[in-house]
Amino acid sequence: MNNLVADADICVKCGLCLPTCPTYTKTQNENESPRGRIALIQAYTSGELTDSKAVRAHIDNCLLCRECERVCPAVVPYSRLIDNFRSQFYEETKPSLALSVLKKVAYNKTAQRFAQSSLKLYQTTGLQKIARSLKLLNLLGLGKMDRLLPTYTEPTTLAEQYSATADCKGTVGLFIGCMGSLLDHETIHAAIKVLTATGFNVAIPAQQTCCGALDLHSGDKATADQLASINTQAFTNPSLMAIVTIASGCGSQLQDYAYPEFAHKVMDISQFLMQANVNLSAQLKPLAESVCLHTPCSLKNAMRAEQGALQLLQQIPQLSITKLPNTIVCCGSAGSYMLEHSAMAEVLLADVLNAAESTPARYLVSSNIGCALHIQAGLQERGMRMEVLHPIVLIARQLAQA
Ligand code: SF4
Ligand code: SF4
Repeated sequence: MNNLVADADICVKCGLCLPTCPTYTKTQNENESPRGRIALIQAYTSGELTDSKAVRAHIDNCLLCRECERVCPAVVPYSRLIDNFRSQFYEETKPSLALSVLKKVAYNKTAQRFAQSSLKLYQTTGLQKIARSLKLLNLLGLGKMDRLLPTYTEPTTLAEQYSATADCKGTVGLFIGCMGSLLDHETIHAAIKVLTATGFNVAIPAQQTCCGALDLHSGDKATADQLASINTQAFTNPSLMAIVTIASGCGSQLQDYAYPEFAHKVMDISQFLMQANVNLSAQLKPLAESVCLHTPCSLKNAMRAEQGALQLLQQIPQLSITKLPNTIVCCGSAGSYMLEHSAMAEVLLADVLNAAESTPARYLVSSNIGCALHIQAGLQERGMRMEVLHPIVLIARQLAQA
């Protein structure tokens, strides 16, 4: 409680954060703003408000996009404040079925294998089509999860070490993430390919696990701490010059670990390549296409690394890049938010889809798997044929053809 009060009291109620907050701009409700939520926490902790359910509803509507943190002149540690507040009520909160499934699959390797074979069966036997047409999963509250599922691809076994194929500059650790290892093998292999081709050995410790973001943001601090401990032990090798992430949602969580020697090494892959002065222009085949660049809020507001993807993509000759307008703060995916607050998630997604629709882009690139799945589902529902992929995949494809 003391930490909550101290963090909340940093807020000077200036209101500069309000116009940047997606839930406030969509509702115009002070209780759905950063300042309003801080005031609610203050009122609750002081005893002025006693209805914890009503307060929690407003706190839980927060996306944790951290746009308010980025603009706050008083540097309120807003994300920490919300996580700490939610953790006070963790024991009495019943997670939705979707969140329970997601957490199970996130860090249980047996559950991951089961999920992989179930997904294969579900998609290759036509069960998915039948379930979707009859809306069967909606009855179980899993319909929102089903719409996010990408087309099944066979999982590939990863080695623990990959050697640089160009003059060696050092070794990096690659954090693959639980959802990435389950649903997005192309991004993992693209990262290995680009890193080794640019002179980096890649270490992928097998004992790494989920980053813990789902747990922390749903109030389960104890599990988040356990996962942090496993990951820091997995990447203890002191010769690692960086711990590279391919999902900014994971990267932002890893950077917040209470293990400075680990957290300081964590970097988004595009940012890492740019800071290492990697220049691939001569090795990349031209691509006379247009790409729409989505910047996840975790990349911009938490990792503060939004320039990397743009600079990296600019190395592809002839590629035309359109950034989504700055007025778009969060696409609404926000970890499990898109499953548990689907109405607001859809409203925010519509802004992204409208902006993407107004471009001639063939691709939409995003550095976070959660955003990519959410946006891909929205594009499909609108019948738009834009391919959603990680920037490193586009780089690897052009490298492959060079
Ligand atoms: S910008 Fe910061 S100090 Fe100002 S109201 Fe928002 S959270 Fe409080
Ligand atoms: S984290 Fe995002 S949604 Fe939550 S209060 Fe801040 S700006 Fe609003």
